[in-house]
Amino acid sequence: MKKYEIDWNTLIKAFSTDKQCFDYFQRLKWGNGFICSRCGCTEYWSISEIKFKCKNCGYQSTLTTGTMFQNSHLPLLQWFRAIWYIVSCRGAVDATEFQKAVNIGSNRTALNVLNKIRDVMGQIEREKFSGNVYVDYFSVFTRTKKESRDAYIAMTKEEDNSLRIKMQLKKAYNTADIGRFIENCISEESTVVSAKVNFYGYYGEFDKRLPHNYRYKVSDKIGADNKLLITNKIFTYLKDRQLINVHQGSCSLAHSERYLSECCYKFNRRKKKPDRMFNEILKFMIRN
Ligand SMILES: [Zn+2]
Repeated sequence: MKKYEIDWNTLIKAFSTDKQCFDYFQRLKWGNGFICSRCGCTEYWSISEIKFKCKNCGYQSTLTTGTMFQNSHLPLLQWFRAIWYIVSCRGAVDATEFQKAVNIGSNRTALNVLNKIRDVMGQIEREKFSGNVYVDYFSVFTRTKKESRDAYIAMTKEEDNSLRIKMQLKKAYNTADIGRFIENCISEESTVVSAKVNFYGYYGEFDKRLPHNYRYKVSDKIGADNKLLITNKIFTYLKDRQLINVHQGSCSLAHSERYLSECCYKFNRRKKKPDRMFNEILKFMIRN
């Protein structure tokens, strides 16, 4: 497995003390100043560097109150390192390497942190595709036949012509499962396009049990330029970048879905720099 060089210098230049993390966190959370989460008052007494008391209602809160970091015992500096590591790995993160690089003592905590960030990646990507959406499926985790599993893939072209994907594990070989995938990833009234006739039913006949509020089309073309999109090409890219097919021991179904979230998030930002992703994830975790 390829090892990715992590540009720790960039992170350390910006964040090497807890204070720097607090200040940045505070800016992302409140912009210019404190806002009481209970009454909205902007005046406060500082109890400590990260603890505040509202001058109006007396409510005491910490910097992380009301954010996804609220119940975490991990210091912010380590969270920052964790997020930075994950967005800097061009391929999918290996849990053991991650734990070592971020220096988290327990592997359970390391996995929790990794999974939390993967969930955030999934949530950031939750907006459904619309318009012409191309769908297909392929096998992932193919070390042995027994371990391999099919994943659905939805592909769409943005206005700027960039290609975006969503993936979901196939849980059953039936129309209801395909229906769930379509409803989860694609908004109603869209046109669902597939080159595989058998994606929708059998022998060219559309299965009437598919969700009704979509148009279905069998075609190998998508987008305004009618450019042929080949699932295999995307799959090869994902494999080359090690976004897929990296083994992490036995993957439970839940972990595999998270794993696909990371894969799609990174694919959809393949031209973005790590700092853009770092800020996006941090902001989401502070505001949600
Ligand atoms: Zn208050």
